[in-house]
Amino acid sequence: MTEHATGAQSWQQAGDGTRYHEHDVRMRADDGGLLEIMHATTDTGAMLRARFAARCCMRGAVSRAEDLSGVWRFRELVMPTAGDAIVSHPEGNTPLLGRDRLRAFTGADGLLIKHEGHNPTGSFKDRGMTVGVTQAKRVGARAVACASTGNTSASLASYAANAGIPALVFVPDGQIALGKLTQTLAYGARTLMVRGDFDRCLALVQEASASLGIYLVNSINPWRIEGQKTIVFELLEQLGWIAPDFLVLPAGNLGNTAAFGKALREARALGLIDRVPRLVSVQAEGANPFFRGFADDFATRHRVEAHTIATAIKIGDPASWDRAVQGIRESDGLVLSVSDEEILAAKVVIDATGVGCEPASAASVAGVRQLVARGVVQPSHSVVAVLTGHVLKDPGILVQYHQEREPAPPDANRPIVIDATIRAVADVLDRVSAA
Ligand SMILES: *Cc1c(COP(=O)(O)O)cnc(C)c1O
Repeated sequence: MTEHATGAQSWQQAGDGTRYHEHDVRMRADDGGLLEIMHATTDTGAMLRARFAARCCMRGAVSRAEDLSGVWRFRELVMPTAGDAIVSHPEGNTPLLGRDRLRAFTGADGLLIKHEGHNPTGSFKDRGMTVGVTQAKRVGARAVACASTGNTSASLASYAANAGIPALVFVPDGQIALGKLTQTLAYGARTLMVRGDFDRCLALVQEASASLGIYLVNSINPWRIEGQKTIVFELLEQLGWIAPDFLVLPAGNLGNTAAFGKALREARALGLIDRVPRLVSVQAEGANPFFRGFADDFATRHRVEAHTIATAIKIGDPASWDRAVQGIRESDGLVLSVSDEEILAAKVVIDATGVGCEPASAASVAGVRQLVARGVVQPSHSVVAVLTGHVLKDPGILVQYHQEREPAPPDANRPIVIDATIRAVADVLDRVSAA
Protein backbone atom coordinates (compact mmCIF):
# COMPACT_ATOMS: atom_id res chain seq x y z
CA MET A 1 0.00 0.00 0.00
CA THR A 2 1.52 3.29 -0.98
CA GLU A 3 0.90 6.27 1.25
CA HIS A 4 -0.21 8.47 -1.62
CA ALA A 5 -2.82 6.13 -3.05
CA THR A 6 -5.37 7.09 -0.44
CA GLY A 7 -7.27 9.36 -2.80
CA ALA A 8 -7.27 12.11 -0.21
CA GLN A 9 -7.95 15.67 -1.24
CA SER A 10 -8.40 18.76 0.88
CA TRP A 11 -10.04 22.15 0.50
CA GLN A 12 -11.10 25.17 2.58
CA GLN A 13 -14.84 25.48 3.17
CA ALA A 14 -17.05 28.36 4.24
CA GLY A 15 -20.14 28.10 6.43
CA ASP A 16 -22.39 28.26 3.34
CA GLY A 17 -20.53 25.39 1.66
CA THR A 18 -18.39 27.51 -0.70
CA ARG A 19 -15.07 25.79 -1.39
CA TYR A 20 -11.69 27.46 -1.76
CA HIS A 21 -8.48 25.81 -2.96
CA GLU A 22 -6.21 24.56 -0.18
CA HIS A 23 -3.47 26.95 -1.35
CA ASP A 24 -5.76 29.99 -1.46
CA VAL A 25 -4.22 32.44 1.07
CA ARG A 26 -7.25 33.78 2.94
CA MET A 27 -8.34 33.74 6.57
CA ARG A 28 -12.03 34.29 5.90
CA ALA A 29 -14.68 33.40 3.35
CA ASP A 30 -16.11 36.13 1.11
CA ASP A 31 -18.99 36.46 3.59
CA GLY A 32 -16.53 37.22 6.43
CA GLY A 33 -16.97 33.91 8.27
CA LEU A 34 -14.13 31.60 9.31
CA LEU A 35 -13.04 28.71 7.11
CA GLU A 36 -12.78 25.02 7.83
CA ILE A 37 -10.49 22.46 6.21
CA MET A 38 -12.26 19.46 4.71
CA HIS A 39 -10.66 16.22 3.59
CA ALA A 40 -12.18 13.72 1.18
CA THR A 41 -11.04 10.31 2.28
CA THR A 42 -11.98 6.82 1.17
CA ASP A 43 -10.22 5.25 4.15
CA THR A 44 -12.25 3.47 6.79
CA GLY A 45 -11.67 3.95 10.49
CA ALA A 46 -10.13 0.47 10.74
CA MET A 47 -7.64 1.24 7.95
CA LEU A 48 -6.65 4.51 9.58
CA ARG A 49 -6.26 2.99 13.04
CA ALA A 50 -3.92 0.33 11.65
CA ARG A 51 -1.85 2.87 9.75
CA PHE A 52 -1.57 5.27 12.73
CA ALA A 53 -0.47 2.40 14.97
CA ALA A 54 2.16 1.17 12.50
CA ARG A 55 3.72 4.63 12.19
CA CYS A 56 3.73 5.09 15.93
CA CYS A 57 5.91 2.03 16.48
CA MET A 58 8.30 2.29 13.57
CA ARG A 59 11.81 3.20 14.59
CA GLY A 60 15.15 3.60 12.89
CA ALA A 61 15.79 3.36 9.17
CA VAL A 62 12.31 2.27 8.13
CA SER A 63 10.53 5.26 9.66
CA ARG A 64 9.90 8.52 7.85
CA ALA A 65 10.66 11.67 9.83
CA GLU A 66 7.02 12.73 9.89
CA ASP A 67 5.95 9.39 11.37
CA LEU A 68 7.80 10.35 14.58
CA SER A 69 5.52 13.37 15.02
CA GLY A 70 2.34 13.00 17.08
CA VAL A 71 0.75 15.40 14.61
CA TRP A 72 1.99 14.15 11.24
CA ARG A 73 1.40 10.48 11.83
CA PHE A 74 -2.29 11.44 11.64
CA ARG A 75 -1.66 13.37 8.40
CA GLU A 76 -4.63 11.95 6.43
CA LEU A 77 -6.85 13.90 8.83
CA VAL A 78 -4.58 16.96 9.06
CA MET A 79 -2.90 17.85 5.74
CA PRO A 80 -2.55 14.81 3.47
CA THR A 81 -0.77 16.74 0.70
CA ALA A 82 2.04 18.32 2.76
CA GLY A 83 4.77 16.12 1.24
CA ASP A 84 8.24 17.62 1.63
CA ALA A 85 7.00 20.95 2.98
CA ILE A 86 6.55 19.64 6.55
CA VAL A 87 8.17 21.81 9.27
CA SER A 88 8.33 19.60 12.36
CA HIS A 89 10.43 19.32 15.53
CA PRO A 90 8.73 16.67 15.96
CA GLU A 91 5.87 17.46 18.36
CA GLY A 92 2.99 15.68 20.11
CA ASN A 93 3.37 12.15 21.53
CA THR A 94 2.48 13.58 24.93
CA PRO A 95 1.78 11.36 27.95
CA LEU A 96 -1.58 10.37 29.43
CA LEU A 97 -1.00 10.29 33.18
CA GLY A 98 -2.89 8.85 36.13
CA ARG A 99 -2.16 10.44 39.54
CA ASP A 100 -3.86 9.34 42.76
CA ARG A 101 -3.53 12.76 44.40
CA LEU A 102 -5.33 14.44 41.53
CA ARG A 103 -8.06 11.80 41.70
CA ALA A 104 -8.41 12.49 45.42
CA PHE A 105 -8.38 16.27 44.89
CA THR A 106 -11.10 16.20 42.22
CA GLY A 107 -13.08 13.18 43.45
CA ALA A 108 -12.95 11.71 39.94
CA ASP A 109 -11.52 8.20 40.36
CA GLY A 110 -11.28 7.71 36.60
CA LEU A 111 -9.28 10.89 35.95
CA LEU A 112 -6.43 10.90 33.43
CA ILE A 113 -4.25 13.88 32.53
CA LYS A 114 -3.18 14.56 28.94
CA HIS A 115 -0.08 16.71 29.38
CA GLU A 116 0.43 18.97 26.37
CA GLY A 117 3.15 20.86 28.25
CA HIS A 118 5.44 18.07 27.00
CA ASN A 119 5.50 19.61 23.51
CA PRO A 120 8.81 21.11 22.26
CA THR A 121 8.04 24.70 23.28
CA GLY A 122 5.98 23.65 26.30
CA SER A 123 2.39 24.08 25.10
CA PHE A 124 -0.18 22.46 22.80
CA LYS A 125 0.22 25.42 20.41
CA ASP A 126 3.05 23.46 18.74
CA ARG A 127 0.52 21.00 17.31
CA GLY A 128 -1.27 23.75 15.43
CA MET A 129 1.89 25.66 14.61
CA THR A 130 3.68 22.81 12.83
CA VAL A 131 0.75 22.75 10.40
CA GLY A 132 0.33 26.54 10.18
CA VAL A 133 4.01 27.10 9.40
CA THR A 134 4.04 24.18 6.95
CA GLN A 135 1.19 25.91 5.11
CA ALA A 136 3.11 29.23 5.23
CA LYS A 137 6.03 27.44 3.57
CA ARG A 138 3.78 25.81 0.94
CA VAL A 139 2.28 29.14 -0.10
CA GLY A 140 5.69 30.87 -0.11
CA ALA A 141 4.97 33.37 2.69
CA ARG A 142 7.66 36.04 3.08
CA ALA A 143 6.82 36.54 6.76
CA VAL A 144 4.47 35.06 9.36
CA ALA A 145 2.66 36.78 12.22
CA CYS A 146 0.38 36.19 15.18
CA ALA A 147 -1.23 37.94 18.12
CA SER A 148 -0.66 36.06 21.34
CA THR A 149 -1.02 35.89 25.09
CA GLY A 150 2.44 34.24 24.95
CA ASN A 151 2.34 30.58 23.99
CA THR A 152 1.37 31.10 20.36
CA SER A 153 4.22 33.58 19.99
CA ALA A 154 6.76 31.20 21.57
CA SER A 155 5.58 28.42 19.29
CA LEU A 156 5.51 30.54 16.15
CA ALA A 157 8.95 31.95 16.90
CA SER A 158 10.35 28.43 17.18
CA TYR A 159 8.71 26.97 14.06
CA ALA A 160 9.44 30.05 11.96
CA ALA A 161 13.11 29.79 12.96
CA ASN A 162 13.02 26.13 11.99
CA ALA A 163 11.51 27.02 8.59
CA GLY A 164 13.76 30.05 8.04
CA ILE A 165 10.81 32.46 7.68
CA PRO A 166 10.85 35.83 9.55
CA ALA A 167 8.20 36.10 12.29
CA LEU A 168 6.40 39.07 13.85
CA VAL A 169 4.49 38.62 17.09
CA PHE A 170 2.00 41.02 18.70
CA VAL A 171 1.69 40.64 22.47
CA PRO A 172 -0.08 42.80 25.09
CA ASP A 173 2.53 44.97 26.81
CA GLY A 174 3.18 43.88 30.40
CA GLN A 175 0.63 41.05 30.33
CA ILE A 176 2.68 38.11 29.09
CA ALA A 177 4.26 35.51 31.38
CA LEU A 178 8.06 35.66 31.66
CA GLY A 179 8.79 32.17 30.32
CA LYS A 180 6.79 32.81 27.16
CA LEU A 181 8.27 36.23 26.44
CA THR A 182 11.84 35.09 26.92
CA GLN A 183 11.29 32.04 24.69
CA THR A 184 9.93 34.25 21.94
CA LEU A 185 12.94 36.56 22.15
CA ALA A 186 15.39 33.66 22.25
CA TYR A 187 13.91 31.98 19.16
CA GLY A 188 14.33 35.26 17.31
CA ALA A 189 10.83 36.56 16.48
CA ARG A 190 10.41 40.34 16.18
CA THR A 191 8.36 41.01 19.29
CA LEU A 192 5.93 43.92 19.31
CA MET A 193 4.68 44.90 22.78
CA VAL A 194 1.33 46.48 21.98
CA ARG A 195 -0.21 49.01 24.34
CA GLY A 196 -3.55 47.22 24.61
CA ASP A 197 -5.02 43.83 25.52
CA PHE A 198 -5.00 40.56 23.55
CA ASP A 199 -8.23 41.39 21.76
CA ARG A 200 -6.66 44.62 20.48
CA CYS A 201 -3.53 42.71 19.36
CA LEU A 202 -5.65 40.27 17.36
CA ALA A 203 -7.51 43.08 15.59
CA LEU A 204 -4.20 44.80 14.76
CA VAL A 205 -2.45 41.73 13.41
CA GLN A 206 -5.43 40.92 11.16
CA GLU A 207 -5.28 44.41 9.74
CA ALA A 208 -1.53 44.14 9.26
CA SER A 209 -1.70 40.78 7.54
CA ALA A 210 -4.43 41.97 5.16
CA SER A 211 -2.61 45.17 4.19
CA LEU A 212 1.03 44.03 4.36
CA GLY A 213 0.71 40.49 2.99
CA ILE A 214 2.05 38.71 6.09
CA TYR A 215 0.80 35.13 6.59
CA LEU A 216 -1.37 34.97 9.74
CA VAL A 217 -1.14 31.93 12.02
CA ASN A 218 -3.58 32.71 14.81
CA SER A 219 -6.11 29.99 15.53
CA ILE A 220 -8.57 31.63 13.11
CA ASN A 221 -6.19 30.04 10.57
CA PRO A 222 -8.01 26.77 9.79
CA TRP A 223 -4.74 24.80 9.46
CA ARG A 224 -3.94 25.46 13.12
CA ILE A 225 -7.20 23.72 14.01
CA GLU A 226 -6.23 20.69 11.91
CA GLY A 227 -3.03 20.26 13.91
CA GLN A 228 -4.71 20.74 17.29
CA LYS A 229 -7.24 18.01 16.46
CA THR A 230 -4.42 15.50 16.97
CA ILE A 231 -4.54 16.03 20.75
CA VAL A 232 -7.88 14.22 20.57
CA PHE A 233 -6.81 11.55 18.05
CA GLU A 234 -3.73 10.76 20.10
CA LEU A 235 -5.56 10.49 23.43
CA LEU A 236 -8.28 8.32 21.86
CA GLU A 237 -5.57 6.07 20.46
CA GLN A 238 -3.93 5.91 23.91
CA LEU A 239 -7.31 4.75 25.26
CA GLY A 240 -7.57 2.02 22.62
CA TRP A 241 -10.10 4.13 20.67
CA ILE A 242 -12.59 3.91 23.52
CA ALA A 243 -13.88 7.41 24.22
CA PRO A 244 -13.88 8.69 27.82
CA ASP A 245 -17.16 9.98 29.30
CA PHE A 246 -15.83 13.54 29.63
CA LEU A 247 -13.06 15.48 27.89
CA VAL A 248 -12.16 18.69 29.74
CA LEU A 249 -10.00 21.60 28.58
CA PRO A 250 -9.33 25.27 29.44
CA ALA A 251 -10.82 27.78 26.99
CA GLY A 252 -9.82 31.30 25.98
CA ASN A 253 -9.96 32.19 22.30
CA LEU A 254 -11.84 28.89 21.72
CA GLY A 255 -9.57 27.60 18.95
CA ASN A 256 -8.88 24.45 20.91
CA THR A 257 -12.54 23.89 21.80
CA ALA A 258 -13.31 24.20 18.08
CA ALA A 259 -10.49 21.78 17.22
CA PHE A 260 -11.67 19.22 19.78
CA GLY A 261 -15.23 19.45 18.48
CA LYS A 262 -14.07 18.93 14.88
CA ALA A 263 -11.84 16.01 15.86
CA LEU A 264 -14.68 14.26 17.68
CA ARG A 265 -17.09 14.83 14.78
CA GLU A 266 -14.59 13.37 12.32
CA ALA A 267 -13.53 10.48 14.55
CA ARG A 268 -17.18 9.50 14.98
CA ALA A 269 -18.00 9.87 11.26
CA LEU A 270 -15.01 7.75 10.24
CA GLY A 271 -15.82 5.07 12.81
CA LEU A 272 -12.58 5.61 14.75
CA ILE A 273 -14.83 5.72 17.85
CA ASP A 274 -18.44 4.65 18.29
CA ARG A 275 -19.50 7.31 20.76
CA VAL A 276 -18.47 10.86 21.55
CA PRO A 277 -17.36 12.12 25.00
CA ARG A 278 -19.02 15.19 26.51
CA LEU A 279 -16.73 18.11 25.76
CA VAL A 280 -16.24 20.50 28.69
CA SER A 281 -14.70 23.96 28.18
CA VAL A 282 -13.52 25.70 31.34
CA GLN A 283 -13.15 29.48 31.49
CA ALA A 284 -11.74 31.77 34.16
CA GLU A 285 -14.45 33.72 35.98
CA GLY A 286 -12.97 37.08 34.95
CA ALA A 287 -12.79 36.07 31.28
CA ASN A 288 -15.90 33.97 30.75
CA PRO A 289 -17.92 35.23 27.76
CA PHE A 290 -18.38 31.68 26.44
CA PHE A 291 -19.72 30.53 29.81
CA ARG A 292 -22.22 33.41 29.73
CA GLY A 293 -23.20 32.33 26.22
CA PHE A 294 -23.73 28.74 27.38
CA ALA A 295 -25.97 30.02 30.20
CA ASP A 296 -28.36 31.61 27.65
CA ASP A 297 -28.14 28.67 25.20
CA PHE A 298 -25.82 30.72 22.97
CA ALA A 299 -28.61 33.15 22.09
CA THR A 300 -26.13 36.04 22.12
CA ARG A 301 -22.42 36.45 21.55
CA HIS A 302 -20.94 37.87 24.75
CA ARG A 303 -17.86 40.05 25.12
CA VAL A 304 -16.14 41.06 28.37
CA GLU A 305 -13.07 42.96 29.50
CA ALA A 306 -10.86 40.09 30.64
CA HIS A 307 -9.17 39.81 34.05
CA THR A 308 -7.50 36.64 35.39
CA ILE A 309 -4.15 35.37 36.65
CA ALA A 310 -4.38 32.69 33.95
CA THR A 311 -2.96 34.88 31.18
CA ALA A 312 -3.26 32.20 28.46
CA ILE A 313 -7.05 32.38 28.73
CA LYS A 314 -7.31 36.09 29.44
CA ILE A 315 -9.44 36.79 26.37
CA GLY A 316 -12.68 38.79 26.29
CA ASP A 317 -13.87 38.34 22.71
CA PRO A 318 -13.07 34.80 21.52
CA ALA A 319 -12.51 34.47 17.78
CA SER A 320 -13.63 30.86 17.28
CA TRP A 321 -17.03 31.34 18.96
CA ASP A 322 -19.27 29.73 16.32
CA ARG A 323 -17.02 26.71 15.74
CA ALA A 324 -16.78 26.15 19.50
CA VAL A 325 -20.57 26.40 19.98
CA GLN A 326 -20.94 23.63 17.41
CA GLY A 327 -18.46 21.45 19.31
CA ILE A 328 -20.28 21.91 22.62
CA ARG A 329 -23.72 21.33 21.11
CA GLU A 330 -22.80 18.22 19.12
CA SER A 331 -21.20 16.52 22.11
CA ASP A 332 -23.89 17.46 24.65
CA GLY A 333 -21.06 19.41 26.21
CA LEU A 334 -20.77 21.94 29.02
CA VAL A 335 -19.06 25.26 29.66
CA LEU A 336 -17.83 26.04 33.18
CA SER A 337 -16.48 29.07 34.97
CA VAL A 338 -13.90 28.77 37.76
CA SER A 339 -12.43 31.49 39.97
CA ASP A 340 -8.74 32.42 40.10
CA GLU A 341 -8.67 30.94 43.63
CA GLU A 342 -9.95 27.60 42.31
CA ILE A 343 -7.40 27.70 39.47
CA LEU A 344 -4.56 28.42 41.89
CA ALA A 345 -5.69 25.71 44.35
CA ALA A 346 -5.73 23.14 41.52
CA LYS A 347 -2.37 24.31 40.23
CA VAL A 348 -0.72 23.97 43.63
CA VAL A 349 -1.88 20.32 43.83
CA ILE A 350 -0.90 19.54 40.21
CA ASP A 351 2.54 21.05 40.84
CA ALA A 352 3.00 19.21 44.14
CA THR A 353 2.35 15.85 42.44
CA GLY A 354 5.45 16.55 40.37
CA VAL A 355 3.38 16.91 37.20
CA GLY A 356 3.24 20.72 37.09
CA CYS A 357 1.49 23.08 34.69
CA GLU A 358 0.93 26.77 34.00
CA PRO A 359 -2.06 28.53 35.62
CA ALA A 360 -4.49 28.36 32.65
CA SER A 361 -3.97 24.60 32.39
CA ALA A 362 -5.10 24.07 35.97
CA ALA A 363 -8.55 25.39 35.02
CA SER A 364 -9.34 21.96 33.54
CA VAL A 365 -8.64 20.16 36.83
CA ALA A 366 -10.56 22.85 38.75
CA GLY A 367 -13.40 22.21 36.30
CA VAL A 368 -13.39 18.45 36.96
CA ARG A 369 -13.56 19.16 40.68
CA GLN A 370 -16.56 21.42 40.16
CA LEU A 371 -18.35 18.79 38.05
CA VAL A 372 -17.86 16.15 40.75
CA ALA A 373 -19.16 18.57 43.40
CA ARG A 374 -22.23 19.22 41.23
CA GLY A 375 -22.81 15.48 40.76
CA VAL A 376 -22.38 15.67 36.97
CA VAL A 377 -19.21 13.58 37.03
CA GLN A 378 -19.63 10.37 39.07
CA PRO A 379 -16.61 8.65 40.60
CA SER A 380 -17.04 5.81 38.10
CA HIS A 381 -16.87 8.06 35.01
CA SER A 382 -13.79 8.16 32.83
CA VAL A 383 -12.50 11.71 32.50
CA VAL A 384 -9.57 13.11 30.53
CA ALA A 385 -8.42 16.60 31.55
CA VAL A 386 -5.96 18.38 29.28
CA LEU A 387 -3.03 20.31 30.75
CA THR A 388 -2.20 22.83 28.06
CA GLY A 389 1.14 24.31 29.17
CA HIS A 390 4.34 23.64 31.15
CA VAL A 391 5.00 24.72 34.75
CA LEU A 392 7.99 26.88 33.70
CA LYS A 393 5.91 29.07 31.41
CA ASP A 394 4.94 31.33 34.30
CA PRO A 395 7.75 31.44 36.88
CA GLY A 396 6.48 34.78 38.19
CA ILE A 397 3.39 33.25 39.76
CA LEU A 398 5.52 30.52 41.39
CA VAL A 399 7.92 33.01 42.95
CA GLN A 400 5.00 35.07 44.19
CA TYR A 401 3.18 32.06 45.70
CA HIS A 402 6.08 30.18 47.24
CA GLN A 403 8.51 32.94 48.19
CA GLU A 404 6.87 36.34 48.42
CA ARG A 405 3.22 36.16 49.45
CA GLU A 406 2.53 37.42 53.00
CA PRO A 407 1.32 35.70 54.99
CA ALA A 408 2.64 32.53 53.42
CA PRO A 409 -0.12 30.22 52.13
CA PRO A 410 -0.23 26.93 54.12
CA ASP A 411 1.27 24.93 51.25
CA ALA A 412 3.84 27.54 50.21
CA ASN A 413 7.23 25.84 49.91
CA ARG A 414 9.59 28.52 51.20
CA PRO A 415 13.29 28.10 50.56
CA ILE A 416 15.22 27.84 53.83
CA VAL A 417 18.37 29.87 54.41
CA ILE A 418 20.85 28.04 56.65
CA ASP A 419 24.37 28.35 58.02
CA ALA A 420 26.81 26.07 56.22
CA THR A 421 26.84 23.48 59.04
CA ILE A 422 25.75 19.86 59.28
CA ARG A 423 23.81 20.81 62.41
CA ALA A 424 21.60 23.18 60.42
CA VAL A 425 20.90 20.47 57.84
CA ALA A 426 20.04 17.99 60.59
CA ASP A 427 17.54 20.48 62.06
CA VAL A 428 15.77 20.79 58.73
CA LEU A 429 15.71 17.02 58.30
CA ASP A 430 14.15 16.59 61.76
CA ARG A 431 11.38 19.00 60.90
CA VAL A 432 10.73 17.31 57.51
CA SER A 433 10.44 13.83 59.01
CA ALA A 434 8.27 15.10 61.90
CA ALA A 435 5.76 16.62 59.47
C1 LIG B 1 -3.81 29.02 24.13
C2 LIG B 1 -3.94 28.41 25.45
C3 LIG B 1 -5.17 28.08 26.03
C4 LIG B 1 -6.48 28.46 25.41
O1 LIG B 1 -6.76 27.87 24.16
P1 LIG B 1 -7.78 28.60 23.18
O2 LIG B 1 -7.67 27.86 21.92
O3 LIG B 1 -7.35 30.03 23.09
O4 LIG B 1 -9.15 28.49 23.81
C5 LIG B 1 -5.18 27.45 27.25
N1 LIG B 1 -4.05 27.15 27.90
C6 LIG B 1 -2.84 27.45 27.39
C7 LIG B 1 -1.63 27.11 28.16
C8 LIG B 1 -2.74 28.08 26.15
O5 LIG B 1 -1.54 28.39 25.67
